[in-house]
Amino acid sequence: MSEQHSFQAETQQLLNILIHSLYTEKEIFLRELISNASDALNRLQFEMLTNDDVVDAEAALAIRVALDEEAATLTISDSGIGMNRAEIIAGLGTIAKSGAKAFIEAMREKPESASDIIGQFGVGFYSAFMVAKQVDVISRSHRPEDEAVKWSATGGTNYTLEDAEKTSRGTEVVIRLKDDEEEFTRGFRVKDIIRRHSDYVAFPIYVDDDEEPTNKQQAIWRRNPAEVEAEEYDSFYKMLTMDFAGASHHIHMRADVPMQFYALLFVPGSGQQNMFSPRKEPGLKLYARKVLIEEYNRELLPEYLSFVQGVVDSEDLPLSVSRESIQATRVMASLKKTVTRRALSELKRMAKNDRDKYLRIYQEFGAYLKQGLVVDSEDRGDLEPLMFFQTTHDEDPGQYHSLDDYVERMSENQDNIYYVVADDYSSGSRSPHLDAFRQRGIEVLYFTHPVDAMLPMGMTDFKGHKLVSVDSAELDLADVGDVGEAEAKSAAPLEADSFAVLQARVKATLGGRVSDVRESKTLVGSPARLVSEDESANRYMFRINRLLDKDYELPVKALELNPRHPLMHNLSGLIGSGDDALIDAVAEQVFETALLQDGIHPDPSSMADRLTLLMQAATGSGSADLDFAAIETVISEPAVVEESDFEGIVLDPPDEVRDETEDAKE
Ligand code: ADP
Repeated sequence: MSEQHSFQAETQQLLNILIHSLYTEKEIFLRELISNASDALNRLQFEMLTNDDVVDAEAALAIRVALDEEAATLTISDSGIGMNRAEIIAGLGTIAKSGAKAFIEAMREKPESASDIIGQFGVGFYSAFMVAKQVDVISRSHRPEDEAVKWSATGGTNYTLEDAEKTSRGTEVVIRLKDDEEEFTRGFRVKDIIRRHSDYVAFPIYVDDDEEPTNKQQAIWRRNPAEVEAEEYDSFYKMLTMDFAGASHHIHMRADVPMQFYALLFVPGSGQQNMFSPRKEPGLKLYARKVLIEEYNRELLPEYLSFVQGVVDSEDLPLSVSRESIQATRVMASLKKTVTRRALSELKRMAKNDRDKYLRIYQEFGAYLKQGLVVDSEDRGDLEPLMFFQTTHDEDPGQYHSLDDYVERMSENQDNIYYVVADDYSSGSRSPHLDAFRQRGIEVLYFTHPVDAMLPMGMTDFKGHKLVSVDSAELDLADVGDVGEAEAKSAAPLEADSFAVLQARVKATLGGRVSDVRESKTLVGSPARLVSEDESANRYMFRINRLLDKDYELPVKALELNPRHPLMHNLSGLIGSGDDALIDAVAEQVFETALLQDGIHPDPSSMADRLTLLMQAATGSGSADLDFAAIETVISEPAVVEESDFEGIVLDPPDEVRDETEDAKE
């Protein structure tokens, strides 16, 4: 019975693009079809673990490529799982893959980039139409009760289905080549393509009547690491991930005791999502005794290492069970432990001995590791040595320092590790909170990545030293470091009485927007700062919520005023003068400047009008005619602060909050 079907709209679009555009890399159609054949063989292998009632149970698992120069055909056959009528309609009539849709989108936007992206993109079966004027697929499912079926299309809007005569299990794809594509019937050309693109396919690929397979097919991860060349790792990585930028590091493990397994892991060179990579999901390829059990296994590594790509292959995993029950075995648990330990120890070794290389990886994937520290506290000991920060030590944003570096340099009597939370390095370095630390020569870590502010949730201390924020209201540096001459040189503080009046006056202006107004014991060059009385580890959660455009409440903090600062002297002097509008405006601006310096002003441009009036007052004869009252303050009295729930957020920061570091590749 022969019947006509029409392709799904997306499929038609894809076909249209593939047929009518000129590609330089048409040869990749062969890689795609061989990869489909290999998948079909994998799936059959998997099926046969639990079911021996299949057609041709004894047939060898292989891929054959037959060339016919006269007929201008190239035929790829496999003895894989095969398809029945319904499966062929589902598989070859529709596009299930979101990647293919992304490809169509990209092509629509930038058709001229076709030849660049097609090679990076698994366009799958339809890529055959780059070289074919007609494609016939004849398939016989592995199920004895299914009938063989033939699918046929010429790249138009329809395909036909009819009964077929095939008795052997598997699929045969016959490519009727376009007139100018006869190169794909030449043995040397086809073998060259196979060696370049499909060498590691695990099943033998025979061309024509060759007795030797064209591909090496030896699983690279099963080879002796001493005998694998760097280029071989590189090309295997690219084949696995289609990430043509290459990996920045690989880890090749083999073990016999207590359990027998092989693993080959890669750290990608870039954390940037490659939209054309067919390998988008995190997870390792899991083989049990050379049978592919799972394409994306997420049980073998903790979430915070989910950026790692690769393959794990064990002889000790039970074969005759379902994927689910494999997950639950003790072998899996101990595999996970071993693989994770090794990946971490490799990163730690690199952080110690090859810091530049490690830091490039850290730039790309540090956010994952930090999330691990927040969420997976049992691995703290392994993750802490992987943390690096810019610090006030050298005031150089290009330098990163480990926590151990910091501890080694701690000042006399210093117990705590101090950090400043900021949106970026430059605003952090201007923070008024650093006054006291700079004066005493105490180093401060810059916490500028959104996840950094969460770190104290998982890492309350390091080597017995508490992590303390520089804006902590309880900060007491009296005995730490050496203030030296600095204090003597600064202006005299306001008299206690005058300060008390100033304090009350500022408090009256700011009301509930601050929890308190008080005298600062630490400020040097800055007039004021906001300190936090909330010592809870998740008190910075609002910063994440803000980045995610979620509702958040600004935490209410105490405003510390510097009694030595000339501005405070001036303001104190003004209080007697009765220019209340100006005093209010200055108090407002002092407060909002402190918010700005902490990177938490909700709308900085709203300050412009007030700043203009203040400049008018400063440059003219006074403020009598200035309408400060017309200026609205954007910070309103807080409502009740709610606990934010942070679950799911930390694990998945949006792209724009990730580090946008370039050139972290090798
Ligand atoms: P992908 O392989 O990425 O899913 P394709 O367009 O290449 O996308 O193939 C679509 C589907 O057709 C496959 O998922 C598979 O189910 C089926 N298929 C393709 N080639 C074969 C084959 N040689 N044997 C069995 N099934 C196949």
